[in-house]
Amino acid sequence: MSSPAMLLTVLGSGSCELRRERSSPAYLLEAQGFGLLLDLGQGALRRLLDSGRDPAALGGLLLSHHHPDHLGDLIPLLFALNYDPRLRQRASLSLLAHAGLEPLLAGLEGLFGSWLTPPPERLAPTWLQPGQELALGPWRLRAAAAEHTPFSLAYRLEREGASLVYLGDSQASPQLAEFCLGADLLIAHCAGSDQAPKPGHLSPRQAGRLAAQARAGALLLSHFYVDVDPAQAVAAAGALFAGPVWAAEDLMSLAIANGHCQILVPHG
Ligand SMILES: [Zn+2]
Ligand SMILES: [Zn+2]
Repeated sequence: MSSPAMLLTVLGSGSCELRRERSSPAYLLEAQGFGLLLDLGQGALRRLLDSGRDPAALGGLLLSHHHPDHLGDLIPLLFALNYDPRLRQRASLSLLAHAGLEPLLAGLEGLFGSWLTPPPERLAPTWLQPGQELALGPWRLRAAAAEHTPFSLAYRLEREGASLVYLGDSQASPQLAEFCLGADLLIAHCAGSDQAPKPGHLSPRQAGRLAAQARAGALLLSHFYVDVDPAQAVAAAGALFAGPVWAAEDLMSLAIANGHCQILVPHG
């Protein structure tokens, strides 16, 4: 494969369950030296350090919604932006989330005061609406309403003809199938099993059906609970989707290029 347009590293492939092997949902997307976090569940910063990355070099953080397992490490990140000397010197981070989450930072400031209020040159928030499109680092970013909570967003990131959709927690819908159309990689959270689906989430079969409807290049299943068997989930999704289907594992890396996606570092 020629040099990929972007690199994805799974920092958390789990859920709210406290598990040694699966941290809560978080991913690192990298291109042209720009590191973008997709969600920041508890344990994400530790996994980021385990992956050898420098937190001071991060460029941005995209939040899909405000369930605590998706942003549990926001408090330690904000605290470090204020008091970790390396982050104080070098960090400059964009925070992007649904406009309905604007009270989040104000709420933390209300409780913690200046401890969790980094200066604007170190953390610059942008509040998004569904349908919004903007440039973010080396990517074009588009946001769409996810079918999960009123303030949930799915994100599509494109660069050099390659595209990734981070669906976050969501059910399927015709609008979301359209939003995912032709994505080289679709990250879908199959929180419930096909036998016991969870409302507001995809089951593995539903994720496979969505990937097929969207004619995605490849499907990465993630957000695993203990009661969802990853191998069975891959088989169930693969029965409906002809492209590659993978079960995410913490610290797995994938290269994403136009029309091609491959695993670089399986979990060791
Ligand atoms: Zn959620
Ligand atoms: Zn979740």
